[in-house]
Amino acid sequence: MIPKKKHVLHFTKAYRCRLGAHSGSSTMTARILLVEDEKPLVDAITYALQREGYTVLVAFDGQAALQMAEGEQPDLILLDLLLPKLGGLELCRILRRRSDVPIIMLTAKAGEADRVVGLELGADDYITKPFSMRELLARIRAVLRRSQAKSETPAPAVLEDVGLRLDLLRREASLHGQPLNLTTREFDLLAFLMGHPGIVFSRTDLLEKVWGTLNVGPETVSVHIHWLRQKIEEDPERPQRLLTVRGIGYKYRG
Ligand code: CA
Repeated sequence: MIPKKKHVLHFTKAYRCRLGAHSGSSTMTARILLVEDEKPLVDAITYALQREGYTVLVAFDGQAALQMAEGEQPDLILLDLLLPKLGGLELCRILRRRSDVPIIMLTAKAGEADRVVGLELGADDYITKPFSMRELLARIRAVLRRSQAKSETPAPAVLEDVGLRLDLLRREASLHGQPLNLTTREFDLLAFLMGHPGIVFSRTDLLEKVWGTLNVGPETVSVHIHWLRQKIEEDPERPQRLLTVRGIGYKYRG
Protein backbone atom coordinates (compact mmCIF):
# COMPACT_ATOMS: atom_id res chain seq x y z
CA MET A 1 0.00 0.00 0.00
CA ILE A 2 1.27 3.45 -0.80
CA PRO A 3 1.19 6.08 1.91
CA LYS A 4 -2.00 8.06 2.41
CA LYS A 5 -3.84 5.36 0.50
CA LYS A 6 -6.72 5.46 2.94
CA HIS A 7 -7.04 9.17 2.50
CA VAL A 8 -6.96 8.77 -1.26
CA LEU A 9 -9.53 6.00 -1.27
CA HIS A 10 -11.78 8.17 0.82
CA PHE A 11 -11.82 10.80 -1.91
CA THR A 12 -12.20 8.13 -4.51
CA LYS A 13 -15.20 6.62 -2.86
CA ALA A 14 -16.86 9.96 -2.35
CA TYR A 15 -16.51 10.98 -5.95
CA ARG A 16 -16.80 7.73 -7.80
CA CYS A 17 -20.07 7.22 -9.55
CA ARG A 18 -20.99 5.07 -12.47
CA LEU A 19 -24.22 5.88 -14.28
CA GLY A 20 -25.07 2.67 -16.02
CA ALA A 21 -27.84 4.17 -18.11
CA HIS A 22 -25.41 6.26 -20.11
CA SER A 23 -22.65 3.74 -20.56
CA GLY A 24 -23.21 2.87 -24.18
CA SER A 25 -19.64 2.71 -25.46
CA SER A 26 -16.28 2.05 -23.92
CA THR A 27 -15.27 5.73 -24.00
CA MET A 28 -18.38 6.50 -22.00
CA THR A 29 -17.31 4.34 -19.09
CA ALA A 30 -13.76 5.64 -18.98
CA ARG A 31 -12.31 6.52 -15.59
CA ILE A 32 -11.17 10.11 -15.44
CA LEU A 33 -8.88 11.50 -12.78
CA LEU A 34 -9.62 15.17 -12.21
CA VAL A 35 -6.74 17.04 -10.60
CA GLU A 36 -7.98 20.44 -9.55
CA ASP A 37 -7.94 22.42 -6.32
CA GLU A 38 -10.83 24.80 -6.98
CA LYS A 39 -13.79 23.14 -5.33
CA PRO A 40 -16.57 24.83 -7.38
CA LEU A 41 -14.84 23.86 -10.61
CA VAL A 42 -14.34 20.32 -9.32
CA ASP A 43 -18.05 20.07 -8.58
CA ALA A 44 -19.07 21.45 -11.98
CA ILE A 45 -16.72 19.20 -13.95
CA THR A 46 -17.56 16.13 -11.87
CA TYR A 47 -21.25 16.70 -12.44
CA ALA A 48 -20.81 17.16 -16.19
CA LEU A 49 -18.61 14.08 -16.56
CA GLN A 50 -20.83 11.84 -14.47
CA ARG A 51 -23.82 12.87 -16.53
CA GLU A 52 -21.95 11.50 -19.53
CA GLY A 53 -21.39 8.23 -17.72
CA TYR A 54 -17.73 8.69 -16.87
CA THR A 55 -16.35 7.50 -13.57
CA VAL A 56 -14.72 10.48 -11.89
CA LEU A 57 -11.85 10.36 -9.41
CA VAL A 58 -10.74 13.60 -7.81
CA ALA A 59 -7.40 14.72 -6.40
CA PHE A 60 -7.14 18.18 -4.88
CA ASP A 61 -3.37 18.41 -4.94
CA GLY A 62 -0.44 17.11 -6.94
CA GLN A 63 0.79 14.61 -4.40
CA ALA A 64 -2.61 12.94 -4.06
CA ALA A 65 -2.90 12.95 -7.85
CA LEU A 66 0.36 11.07 -8.24
CA GLN A 67 -0.74 8.41 -5.81
CA MET A 68 -4.15 8.06 -7.43
CA ALA A 69 -2.70 7.90 -10.92
CA GLU A 70 -0.57 5.03 -9.66
CA GLY A 71 -3.19 3.22 -7.62
CA GLU A 72 -6.28 3.74 -9.73
CA GLN A 73 -4.88 3.62 -13.26
CA PRO A 74 -7.31 6.14 -14.77
CA ASP A 75 -8.01 6.22 -18.52
CA LEU A 76 -7.48 9.96 -18.74
CA ILE A 77 -6.22 12.75 -16.50
CA LEU A 78 -7.58 16.30 -16.43
CA LEU A 79 -4.75 18.28 -14.96
CA ASP A 80 -4.90 21.79 -13.58
CA LEU A 81 -1.44 23.34 -13.75
CA LEU A 82 -1.59 25.52 -10.63
CA LEU A 83 -1.80 23.04 -7.77
CA PRO A 84 -0.76 22.85 -4.15
CA LYS A 85 2.12 20.58 -3.05
CA LEU A 86 3.23 19.43 -6.50
CA GLY A 87 2.67 21.62 -9.56
CA GLY A 88 0.87 20.38 -12.65
CA LEU A 89 3.92 20.58 -14.92
CA GLU A 90 6.10 18.62 -12.53
CA LEU A 91 3.31 16.10 -12.16
CA CYS A 92 2.98 15.83 -15.93
CA ARG A 93 6.70 15.14 -16.24
CA ILE A 94 6.60 12.38 -13.62
CA LEU A 95 3.44 10.80 -15.06
CA ARG A 96 4.93 10.71 -18.55
CA ARG A 97 7.99 8.85 -17.36
CA ARG A 98 5.73 6.11 -16.18
CA SER A 99 2.77 5.83 -18.49
CA ASP A 100 1.00 6.90 -21.65
CA VAL A 101 -2.17 7.89 -19.84
CA PRO A 102 -3.77 10.71 -21.85
CA ILE A 103 -3.44 14.08 -20.14
CA ILE A 104 -5.50 17.18 -20.84
CA MET A 105 -4.20 20.31 -19.13
CA LEU A 106 -6.58 22.87 -17.66
CA THR A 107 -4.74 26.15 -18.02
CA ALA A 108 -5.26 29.81 -17.23
CA LYS A 109 -5.53 32.23 -20.10
CA ALA A 110 -2.24 33.85 -19.14
CA GLY A 111 -0.41 30.56 -18.91
CA GLU A 112 0.77 30.20 -22.49
CA ALA A 113 4.37 29.40 -21.55
CA ASP A 114 3.17 26.65 -19.20
CA ARG A 115 0.95 25.29 -21.94
CA VAL A 116 3.87 24.97 -24.33
CA VAL A 117 6.04 23.31 -21.68
CA GLY A 118 3.17 20.97 -20.82
CA LEU A 119 2.74 19.86 -24.41
CA GLU A 120 6.47 19.34 -24.72
CA LEU A 121 6.37 17.24 -21.57
CA GLY A 122 3.87 15.00 -23.29
CA ALA A 123 0.42 16.32 -22.38
CA ASP A 124 -2.03 15.41 -25.14
CA ASP A 125 -4.14 18.54 -25.23
CA TYR A 126 -5.11 21.59 -23.22
CA ILE A 127 -8.16 23.66 -22.58
CA THR A 128 -8.12 27.27 -21.42
CA LYS A 129 -10.18 28.45 -18.47
CA PRO A 130 -12.94 29.47 -18.54
CA PHE A 131 -14.26 26.73 -20.81
CA SER A 132 -17.68 25.32 -21.51
CA MET A 133 -18.45 21.78 -20.37
CA ARG A 134 -19.41 21.01 -23.95
CA GLU A 135 -15.96 21.92 -25.17
CA LEU A 136 -14.32 19.94 -22.36
CA LEU A 137 -16.40 16.86 -23.17
CA ALA A 138 -15.50 17.13 -26.87
CA ARG A 139 -11.79 17.29 -26.01
CA ILE A 140 -12.10 14.31 -23.69
CA ARG A 141 -13.86 12.22 -26.31
CA ALA A 142 -11.26 13.09 -28.95
CA VAL A 143 -8.31 12.30 -26.71
CA LEU A 144 -9.86 9.04 -25.50
CA ARG A 145 -10.56 7.98 -29.07
CA ARG A 146 -6.95 8.64 -30.01
CA SER A 147 -5.58 6.74 -27.05
CA GLN A 148 -7.87 3.77 -27.60
CA ALA A 149 -6.80 3.63 -31.23
CA LYS A 150 -3.21 3.21 -30.13
CA SER A 151 -2.27 -0.42 -29.76
CA GLU A 152 -1.82 -1.81 -26.30
CA THR A 153 1.74 -1.22 -25.22
CA PRO A 154 3.34 -4.11 -23.35
CA ALA A 155 4.79 -3.47 -19.92
CA PRO A 156 8.41 -2.35 -20.17
CA ALA A 157 10.89 -5.20 -19.95
CA VAL A 158 13.76 -2.85 -19.23
CA LEU A 159 14.01 -0.08 -16.64
CA GLU A 160 16.60 2.57 -17.29
CA ASP A 161 17.72 5.73 -15.54
CA VAL A 162 20.97 7.57 -16.24
CA GLY A 163 23.28 4.63 -16.72
CA LEU A 164 21.42 2.27 -14.41
CA ARG A 165 19.74 -0.48 -16.40
CA LEU A 166 17.54 -3.34 -15.21
CA ASP A 167 16.53 -6.01 -17.69
CA LEU A 168 13.48 -7.54 -16.03
CA LEU A 169 13.24 -10.58 -18.29
CA ARG A 170 16.89 -11.57 -18.14
CA ARG A 171 17.14 -10.31 -14.55
CA GLU A 172 20.35 -8.51 -15.34
CA ALA A 173 21.42 -5.20 -13.86
CA SER A 174 24.19 -2.91 -15.00
CA LEU A 175 25.57 0.49 -14.10
CA HIS A 176 27.22 2.46 -16.88
CA GLY A 177 27.65 -0.76 -18.81
CA GLN A 178 29.27 -2.64 -15.91
CA PRO A 179 27.28 -5.66 -14.68
CA LEU A 180 25.93 -5.29 -11.15
CA ASN A 181 25.91 -8.24 -8.84
CA LEU A 182 22.54 -7.95 -7.12
CA THR A 183 20.89 -10.56 -4.97
CA THR A 184 17.38 -11.64 -5.93
CA ARG A 185 15.86 -9.46 -3.23
CA GLU A 186 18.01 -6.46 -4.08
CA PHE A 187 17.01 -6.79 -7.72
CA ASP A 188 13.32 -7.04 -6.87
CA LEU A 189 13.46 -4.10 -4.48
CA LEU A 190 15.31 -1.90 -6.95
CA ALA A 191 13.02 -2.93 -9.81
CA PHE A 192 9.97 -2.12 -7.73
CA LEU A 193 11.20 1.33 -6.71
CA MET A 194 12.54 2.18 -10.18
CA GLY A 195 9.22 1.10 -11.64
CA HIS A 196 7.48 3.73 -9.48
CA PRO A 197 9.80 6.75 -9.71
CA GLY A 198 8.98 9.58 -7.35
CA ILE A 199 6.54 7.55 -5.26
CA VAL A 200 7.37 7.17 -1.58
CA PHE A 201 6.88 3.76 -0.01
CA SER A 202 7.07 3.01 3.70
CA ARG A 203 9.14 0.07 4.84
CA THR A 204 5.92 -1.81 5.54
CA ASP A 205 4.71 -1.08 2.00
CA LEU A 206 7.94 -2.49 0.64
CA LEU A 207 7.78 -5.59 2.82
CA GLU A 208 4.31 -6.22 1.49
CA LYS A 209 5.10 -5.49 -2.17
CA VAL A 210 8.60 -6.93 -2.49
CA TRP A 211 8.96 -9.49 0.29
CA GLY A 212 5.32 -10.50 0.19
CA THR A 213 5.25 -10.87 3.97
CA LEU A 214 5.14 -8.81 7.12
CA ASN A 215 6.82 -11.54 9.12
CA VAL A 216 10.21 -9.88 8.89
CA GLY A 217 11.10 -6.62 10.61
CA PRO A 218 11.05 -3.31 8.72
CA GLU A 219 14.79 -2.91 9.41
CA THR A 220 15.29 -5.64 6.79
CA VAL A 221 14.25 -3.09 4.19
CA SER A 222 16.71 -0.50 5.50
CA VAL A 223 19.50 -3.04 5.34
CA HIS A 224 18.73 -3.90 1.72
CA ILE A 225 18.53 -0.22 0.80
CA HIS A 226 21.92 0.22 2.42
CA TRP A 227 23.42 -2.64 0.40
CA LEU A 228 21.82 -1.39 -2.82
CA ARG A 229 23.26 2.07 -2.26
CA GLN A 230 26.73 0.57 -1.91
CA LYS A 231 26.26 -0.95 -5.35
CA ILE A 232 24.46 1.73 -7.34
CA GLU A 233 25.25 5.08 -5.77
CA GLU A 234 28.37 7.02 -6.61
CA ASP A 235 28.51 8.20 -3.01
CA PRO A 236 26.39 5.86 -0.86
CA GLU A 237 26.45 8.45 1.96
CA ARG A 238 24.81 11.00 -0.34
CA PRO A 239 22.45 8.90 -2.44
CA GLN A 240 21.12 10.44 -5.66
CA ARG A 241 18.88 7.57 -6.73
CA LEU A 242 17.53 5.68 -3.72
CA LEU A 243 16.30 8.49 -1.53
CA THR A 244 15.20 8.47 2.08
CA VAL A 245 12.06 10.46 2.81
CA ARG A 246 12.42 11.20 6.49
CA GLY A 247 9.68 9.76 8.63
CA ILE A 248 7.98 8.07 5.68
CA GLY A 249 10.19 5.70 3.77
CA TYR A 250 12.06 5.42 0.52
CA LYS A 251 11.65 6.36 -3.09
CA TYR A 252 13.52 6.15 -6.34
CA ARG A 253 14.04 9.70 -7.55
CA GLY A 254 11.16 11.03 -9.67
CA1 CA B 1 -5.57 25.64 -9.45
